Amino acid sequence: MGFSKLGLSDSILKAVLQKGYDKPSPIQEKSIPVVLEGKDLMAAAQTGTGKTAGFTLPILEILSKGSLAKSNQVRTLVLTPTRELAAQVQDSISTYGKYLPLKSAVVFGGVKINPQMQKLRSGVDILVATPGRLLDLYSQNAVKFDQLEIIVFDEADRMLDMGFIHDIKRILKILPPKRQTLMFSATFSDDIRKLAKSLVNNPIEISTTPRNSTVKSVRQWIHPVDKSKKQALLTHLIKEHDWYQVLVFSRTKHGANRIATQLEKRKISATAIHGNKSQAARTRALADFKAGKVNVLVATDIAARGIDIDQLPHVVNFDLPHVPEDYVHRIGRTGRASSKGEAISLVSADEAKQLFDIERLIQKKLDRVMVDDFVPDHNVPESAKKLLPPKNKKPKKNKNRNKPRYGKDSNSAENKIKKKKGFWGNKPNKKPKK
Ligand code: ADP
Ligand code: MG
Repeated sequence: MGFSKLGLSDSILKAVLQKGYDKPSPIQEKSIPVVLEGKDLMAAAQTGTGKTAGFTLPILEILSKGSLAKSNQVRTLVLTPTRELAAQVQDSISTYGKYLPLKSAVVFGGVKINPQMQKLRSGVDILVATPGRLLDLYSQNAVKFDQLEIIVFDEADRMLDMGFIHDIKRILKILPPKRQTLMFSATFSDDIRKLAKSLVNNPIEISTTPRNSTVKSVRQWIHPVDKSKKQALLTHLIKEHDWYQVLVFSRTKHGANRIATQLEKRKISATAIHGNKSQAARTRALADFKAGKVNVLVATDIAARGIDIDQLPHVVNFDLPHVPEDYVHRIGRTGRASSKGEAISLVSADEAKQLFDIERLIQKKLDRVMVDDFVPDHNVPESAKKLLPPKNKKPKKNKNRNKPRYGKDSNSAENKIKKKKGFWGNKPNKKPKK
């Protein structure tokens, strides 16, 4: 089925065509008609499946038919957990809406508020915002919601994980009750369902993701290794296989810095991103990594969220996350559908519990591959013969993630690295010329 059958007008179709999409993704095919009908929607699909266009295209269609936003008014509000994601969503909106007379803007913390107030003064049809900054702007009367028709929660699961629940509740109180509500998320956790109850009205549910499943086309395995040899093994793997674009996860900021420094010492270009780095430094690190100027990006879990990266061939878990769900998020950064990706975990004996929790969550035992010269002195204990069913209880959360963030711009890196285009498998991995 092509885009033209979905009920979108020519000016939108033209922009989509120029962007080079030939057909809608499954989530787009399902969500676009629902949104156009004005219904509330809860949609779950894995990262990289095109959810942004799934809500942006029909919203542009709806808005193009009504009257434009009056001063300080907003007709559609898109809330995202991170600045990077907010900027990306607005990019998509201006791309798809370039032949329409609609205005869009993006606001987030960490930068001056005055220019944002100025932008809002003449009204915007679509505003993309992170919750904290939106509330700041509202408290300064810079934004009003009398004309609000649609609210979108993008990456709703992330918003909850990052402790935005209080902000979300505050925002809901200031929105008109009669509105269309759309929720997008990678998975429907129990928390999401609970939140949804107070948000959506008789929603249509769409899901193209089995719960917590890892992506099939990702090859995953572990290298058992002694903790003290992890750094040397990482260097060895990168050099041995000529990996040119690797995302390495570290549980701590300090660890991320150390790994990057050590790689640099061994002549592998690497940079770290985490919450202690300024917004400018993070943006630069990411741009360098995307452009292939830097071969290894070392990131903490939170810092890695919300960013779209083209074709990521390798993800390495330098250490295993404490929350098994984070493993699924981490390896979701690499290959999907027809483009293959590899997720490799360096596991030391003390991480057996994390390993077992992950295997239990994904319902699959990870292959153990020994590397010559790195065979550990301390064995990683064997996994249980038969995997127990996944636990139902909620994962423990990092306390900091749940702190209310109203009024301040938490510096905790709130990004997510997301692979681009791989879902359609239309851009094979390219090795840069040497
Ligand atoms: P999600 O929000 O589900 O993680 P995105 O909306 O960020 O995914 O889309 C991931 C990538 O797929 C983007 O680079 C986007 O340009 C691309 N994309 C979206 N829709 C299509 C389509 N119909 N055909 C080809 N590529 C698409
Ligand atoms: Mg998205």
